[in-house]
Amino acid sequence: MVAEGFKVDLDKPLVFQVGHLGEAYQEWVHQPIPTKEGPRFFESDFWEFLTRTVWWAIPTIWLPVVCYSISTSIHMGCTVPEVALIVAFGIFIWTLMEYTLHRFLFHIHTTSYWGNTFHYLLHGCHHKHPMDGLRLVFPPAATAILLVPLWKLVKSLATPTAAPALFGGALLGYVVYDVTHYYLHHGQPTIGVPKSLKVDKLSVWEDAFRSLLVSLVKFLN
Ligand SMILES: [Zn+2]
Ligand SMILES: [Zn+2]
Repeated sequence: MVAEGFKVDLDKPLVFQVGHLGEAYQEWVHQPIPTKEGPRFFESDFWEFLTRTVWWAIPTIWLPVVCYSISTSIHMGCTVPEVALIVAFGIFIWTLMEYTLHRFLFHIHTTSYWGNTFHYLLHGCHHKHPMDGLRLVFPPAATAILLVPLWKLVKSLATPTAAPALFGGALLGYVVYDVTHYYLHHGQPTIGVPKSLKVDKLSVWEDAFRSLLVSLVKFLN
């Protein structure tokens, strides 16, 4: 499937093209196109719709689930200070999960057709089009699917009364992360972050933050 000298046509849907880049995919995906206009991913309008998410859909859809989960633990007998502690622990678990996913899955080196295609959909598109405002936060349909194994994992780790709050905490950590990440790319910070730095060097900062986190984890161990 590796085509020598294959060129991606940016005017056509991208998802089923990028796989043909083969070995050249890694280099291509790390040359960002910093325009706000997002490319078309799929020919089909249905699949195309699923790849575009407005940022405010994330808190709108998931914060009610967070509240419901946390209140379930309270109704089952957890005290408020206990719940606060469990939620904080859930946020910590999310942070570790995000770091692990980014470190080991999001930057996996692919060269095969389906490997490249999968990588592009999962995370490559964010590095190729870092300013595409509708391809930054994680699509809720995909999150909903991933919440099923997360809930199973949490249930196996925590007591029945603590499990909902732990789940809610991890989900809250995700919501805060996704919204903050969106703001870092698209917000207009008035202090501290110069515009050029914001657009060009953001991924460097993101990586530096993750390194800091892993040092902290090593230190705590
Ligand atoms: Zn990345
Ligand atoms: Zn980013």
